[in-house]
Amino acid sequence: MDKNKIVNFCKNCEAWCCYDGVYLTEEDEKKIKTVVENNKDFFSFIPNNYIVDGNWENLFNGRKTNVKPKNYKNNGYPKHFNQTTCVFSVNNKCMLQEFAIEKGEEEWKYKPFTCCTFPLQKRDGKFFAPSEVEDNCNIGEKYPGYVSFLPCYNLKKVDLNKEIEFSDKKSKCNKRS
Ligand code: SF4
Repeated sequence: MDKNKIVNFCKNCEAWCCYDGVYLTEEDEKKIKTVVENNKDFFSFIPNNYIVDGNWENLFNGRKTNVKPKNYKNNGYPKHFNQTTCVFSVNNKCMLQEFAIEKGEEEWKYKPFTCCTFPLQKRDGKFFAPSEVEDNCNIGEKYPGYVSFLPCYNLKKVDLNKEIEFSDKKSKCNKRS
């Protein structure tokens, strides 16, 4: 899978997408707890409550990764995003991904499914480039959106064809397992 275009965007954006952590599936939570419990030395930087109950603007509840304070340096950082980041983010890198790389495993093995497919957006079971669907986190002046405020929002379908194909396949595999 060619991730060069996405990786180039990520290098320059201080991992803004990780500012609030991520909501997890049951499968994600089990997988993360297992890898953390079995590798306490590697994950010694995370707090005990690395997964918590989340509530987004009284519109959505669920289990999610916890967050920690972070000072974003880029002036373009959206004002309605908090100065926080996911507890698994270190120096703008996802340590669940870094762990898998260090162990020589498939790099997205422990990463939550939403993070693996980001910035693709899903509607009616299909994946799209972010700008092709409405930003469903736009709830007005107080919070005017999420993905549409990220630099990778401008990636087009043509840039993301391989990612869309990969995510469709991975999504089908997840349903089967
Ligand atoms: S799990 Fe990794 S990619 Fe997902 S929000 Fe946390 S640090 Fe970012």
